Amino acid sequence: MIEENVKKLLGEIDKNPFGEKVTLVAAVKTQTVDDINKAIAAGIRDIGDNHVQEFKDKYDGITGNPNRHFIGHLQTNKVKYLIGKTYLYQSVDRFELAEEISKRSERAGVTSDCLIQINIGNEETKGGFEYDDGVAAYEKIFAMPALKVKGLMAMLPFTDDEDVLRPLAKKMRELFERLREKDSDIEFLSMGMSGDWKLCVECGSNMVRLGTSIFGARHYN
Ligand SMILES: *Cc1c(COP(=O)(O)O)cnc(C)c1O
Repeated sequence: MIEENVKKLLGEIDKNPFGEKVTLVAAVKTQTVDDINKAIAAGIRDIGDNHVQEFKDKYDGITGNPNRHFIGHLQTNKVKYLIGKTYLYQSVDRFELAEEISKRSERAGVTSDCLIQINIGNEETKGGFEYDDGVAAYEKIFAMPALKVKGLMAMLPFTDDEDVLRPLAKKMRELFERLREKDSDIEFLSMGMSGDWKLCVECGSNMVRLGTSIFGARHYN
């Protein structure tokens, strides 16, 4: 089932309307190492974790050397477990976290790549910088010595109403382009989950994070 899902998705996920390749990141929270490895064997090259403990527990069992993304809320005191092991910190949602990643990366002699998370729906339940603070957040994080900003990440509100979603997704693309004009390192707009990825890609996302559409329901105990 996982293999079929991955192959189907990889077949469906085409370039976005801007001609950019769209990267499929498997959101692996609560999934078993076996299932994650099945997805990798079927063609997944990027996986994203939400919880540091899960990331650590599963780290050595994952085969195929995928790119490891961190996509969940990250406590500052847990950054140390991820340094040097994370391809892309997607959920940089506050300066304190950016400073900690930069400080720890510098100490370890590495540069870490990150995305700035924007709370595009202005929702209390979600982290991220306010949309209107996006450029200022970029400028401050850009200046941090061991952190490279590679783009933006956002989660749209949970609704099926395309009239709500589409303008928000388009605003994210606008901010992404504004930053990319300043900085050629800006490459990724990570936006789109199982329920809304098609709309997000249509609006210019070039990275989607899919969990349930690959693995089925999550295994919460
Ligand atoms: C769980 C999760 C996803 C994937 O969600 P699905 O709806 O299962 O595709 C994407 N992004 C983040 C940040 C997540 O936590």
